[in-house]
Amino acid sequence: MSKKDFCPVAGKCGGCQLTNMDYQRQLKFKQARVVKLFGRQVRVSEIIPSPNIYGYRNKVSAAFGKTRSGKVISGIYKSSVHTIVDIKYCNIENRNADEIINSIKKIVTEMNIPVYDEKRQKGFIRHVTVRVAENTGEYLVTIVTGEEYFPKKEEFLSVLLKAHPEITTVVQNINNKFGSMVMGDKEKILYGDGYITDILCGKKFRISSGSFYQINKGQCENLYSYVLKNSGIKKSDTVIDAYCGTGTIGIICSDIAKKVTGCELNSKACEDAIVNAKLNGVENIKFENDDAGRFMKKLSRENRPADVVITDPPRQGCSIEFLKAVVEMSPREIVYISCEPKTQARDTNFLTKNGYKIKKCTPFDMFPYTNHVETVVLLSKGEIDSKKIRVEFSLEDMDTSGFQQGATYEQIKGRVLEQTGLKVSSLYISQIKRKCGLEVGQSYNLSKKENAKQPQCPPEKEKAIREAMKYFGMI
Ligand code: SAH
Repeated sequence: MSKKDFCPVAGKCGGCQLTNMDYQRQLKFKQARVVKLFGRQVRVSEIIPSPNIYGYRNKVSAAFGKTRSGKVISGIYKSSVHTIVDIKYCNIENRNADEIINSIKKIVTEMNIPVYDEKRQKGFIRHVTVRVAENTGEYLVTIVTGEEYFPKKEEFLSVLLKAHPEITTVVQNINNKFGSMVMGDKEKILYGDGYITDILCGKKFRISSGSFYQINKGQCENLYSYVLKNSGIKKSDTVIDAYCGTGTIGIICSDIAKKVTGCELNSKACEDAIVNAKLNGVENIKFENDDAGRFMKKLSRENRPADVVITDPPRQGCSIEFLKAVVEMSPREIVYISCEPKTQARDTNFLTKNGYKIKKCTPFDMFPYTNHVETVVLLSKGEIDSKKIRVEFSLEDMDTSGFQQGATYEQIKGRVLEQTGLKVSSLYISQIKRKCGLEVGQSYNLSKKENAKQPQCPPEKEKAIREAMKYFGMI
């Protein structure tokens, strides 16, 4: 199949990288990627295919804009330049979520509601995100607006809800700041409860517009069930669910453990996690709104160990503080879930050098047609534990140059692109890092030749880079 057969905008959008491969080839390609990273340490299990390969994305986001001729368009930012590619339907997105966005585009056009103009920093509708709770059929629509005052709000809502009675809640997120962040801090509930509730592995989960939620429901259930079955958790175990989002994994595992503590940096997601524990009548779980590294260090210092640590970090992987504290705490099992096997391999190498052994590695295809792959690695103390050998290590002796203090340049670029559609150079990142008093690495140190003629990072990109560095806990 050619890229164009799969999707008319495949060349422009850049969201799907494997459109020229049939599904079996995609699976082989991903399996090979994981084998390359983990094959020397463990026999990698066969990749679990996605139950659905089309329409699996339960979260759909579209940027709104206008063409020169004044036509309202919505879609994603073209990967190379900051212009919107108009998208009607996307093969990997939930079809009805696409329909809702198309309806909003039509209503905005017919009612003449102003669309935000990035250059002039004026206008109203900037982005729309639709999230679907597939097991309950609930829909959350978030409308990101450049101003708080919503023109023709009642009429807009009434037409939208009439066209899509399946929408259960509508939230307005106000982002009146110049620059590239999609979401602002202020939110208003326009209709319904402001969140949706889904059911995963028999448990209920409330999801607000800002919380993380796996985008492929069927495969997510496969993954969580696998973790539940293979984590080695016993009835007497204390478990930590680090990077826990809305508490999904910890709550699912709470049935088979004595006690669970979840840790999550995003306060909204952490609030959801606390509500989710109540919704499911789970009493042996607690959540802390903190950085996972700081949290683990605290537990380790207070001598509050865990038997099993589950970790599910974002793409940049775990921080070195987190990994050090895990080794110090010395849990019997570690379950490492990741959507970026490269950083996962870096982190598990640290763990295997410090007394752990990889028992199992299983890839899951969470994102068909893209080159992303989710992997679960199970590590155990095994032999070392039974002989009660305490592994001593010193960070000074270890080569930790592979770990970034914060995120890599590539990760910052990725985050900026993902959030804003902007491309930023390493030079710009190094300029902002320097402004913040951070190490820039040898290749980005000021050279003798560096002079005032060097391009300086424009304010919009500076803001996006700062946001990314904040996200990665660097500033
Ligand atoms: N385990 C959850 C969420 C995984 S996504 C699930 O399966 O749904 C990763 C989560 O880590 C996100 O919710 C993100 O907000 C959170 N996170 C990012 N950086 C963090 C940090 N430094 N400390 C703790 N949580 C963090």
